[in-house]
Amino acid sequence: LSQITETFSESVIREMTRICDEVGGYNLSQGFPDFASPKPIQEAAIWAITSGYNQYPVTFGEPELREAISRKVRTYNNIECDPRTDITVTCGATEAMIATLKALINPGDEIIIFEPFYENYGPDSILSGATPRYVTLYGPDWHYSYEELAAAFNEKTKAIIINTPNNPTGKVFTRKELTEIAELCIKWDTYAVADEIYEHILYDGAEHVSIASLPGMAERTVTINSISKTYSVTGWRVGWAIAAPHITQRIRKVHDFFTVGAPTPFQHAAAKAMTFGPEYYDELKSHYAEYRDFILGALREAGFTCEMPKGAYYVLTDASAIMERLGITDDTAFSRKLIELTGVATVPGSSFYAEKSKGNRQVRFCFCKKWETLRSVAHALTTKL
Ligand code: GLN
Repeated sequence: LSQITETFSESVIREMTRICDEVGGYNLSQGFPDFASPKPIQEAAIWAITSGYNQYPVTFGEPELREAISRKVRTYNNIECDPRTDITVTCGATEAMIATLKALINPGDEIIIFEPFYENYGPDSILSGATPRYVTLYGPDWHYSYEELAAAFNEKTKAIIINTPNNPTGKVFTRKELTEIAELCIKWDTYAVADEIYEHILYDGAEHVSIASLPGMAERTVTINSISKTYSVTGWRVGWAIAAPHITQRIRKVHDFFTVGAPTPFQHAAAKAMTFGPEYYDELKSHYAEYRDFILGALREAGFTCEMPKGAYYVLTDASAIMERLGITDDTAFSRKLIELTGVATVPGSSFYAEKSKGNRQVRFCFCKKWETLRSVAHALTTKL
């Protein structure tokens, strides 16, 4: 068997979902909604299937969806892109990220990753052959040190991954931070790979800025996104990567031989979802803001230390106080104990760090769950711990 696949473990996020399902717990581990996706998007998928969109798609994406993406990014992200040459539709943002890294990386190249990071970026680096360099995001507000960031760049740096709004911290990178990052990318002739999957999930007036929209960045940025989180259809596996034509050509080749294409009917349904008016996105935001406020209140009452996330639908908490009370010294054991005592599944903090010990007092809660689930979770956490 391949040695490279020995160097990383299976996803802890996905494993926690399986453990949760086995015991019939409340799944606050994996980031997917437990409420229904919007009726019009469900109807659009049925329409696409009965209209005959059931065979292979254009490998790099059905034209209707690429046109919808191009219109969307022009207005929402301030990115100009040609749907014919600058977009690759992929099987979720997951495939967009690995296909992008495969298209960019040569042996010996380094990539910069902010830590804590979304779990997939670790194995993505290994599978693409990149050497990761981590730059710490410091809690409670998850800022980075400019000196540390600048020192991470060198002549081997091929790319920096920016996930904003951020999973697992809830950080939303500011325009000032993204401008600093952009200047470093230009100075060191480095690509930016921006994973913006939570772009519509923002709180307290936070502004989403796409690094590709900053001066000099369009030609060196790959912007990754998906319909999963915005339209609550994580199982449809439709995402995309936007990049200049010479990068897109490479991404398209990798994508074609990896997967041939993302599911055809869901691409057509996605094109329809992208015509929803502003009320849809406003409502999404305000619902999640209510969930966030409610769950943060319950977590603090239960003894977790946490700051209000500014975006996305996760909160990375410090569980030291409760762990000490229970005599538990590591995050994985604590997550298991938490399911046993309360039925609540979380993700152990170490999943988001290269050096696992950095996360061994943390657990991540995901709050994109219906009221009924969140109320039961709040009750269990505040009465059973
Ligand atoms: N982004 C989601 C999370 O962090 C999971 C996505 C996935 O499992 N593919 O929970």
